[in-house]
Amino acid sequence: MEKNSTNSNFGKAPQNGSIWPRLWRGIKLRCPKCAQGKLFRSYLKPVEHCSNCTQHWGNVRADLAPAWAAMTIAAHVTVLIWHFFFWQTDMPNWQLTSILCVIATAICLIALPPMKGLFMAIIWAKGTTDS
Ligand SMILES: [Zn+2]
Repeated sequence: MEKNSTNSNFGKAPQNGSIWPRLWRGIKLRCPKCAQGKLFRSYLKPVEHCSNCTQHWGNVRADLAPAWAAMTIAAHVTVLIWHFFFWQTDMPNWQLTSILCVIATAICLIALPPMKGLFMAIIWAKGTTDS
């Protein structure tokens, strides 16, 4: 059987309805299928199966996409903050750079789990899991 065949329902999202609520559930770190069970058992470690609907999540691998997305968000926010403060303060560059590094790191750490949930939901909804 073809890897991404729609004949197999194991691990595949239903093809009816909008994809957006499923993606939003992933961003909220909830199971994209039922919205009840948790998607992660620790910071970035996905659960093997949903505790509510038993959807298998162990075969959904987002790899590096969430990290790239989190860094993109952090870079855009950091540049906006830098652009604002660069012209508004007399703060020395080393101080501003240090503060922005801390802010960028915090944004990455905060954005990483929701981005992983988002990409897991996309992969699941498109039926491109490993199984
Ligand atoms: Zn579920």
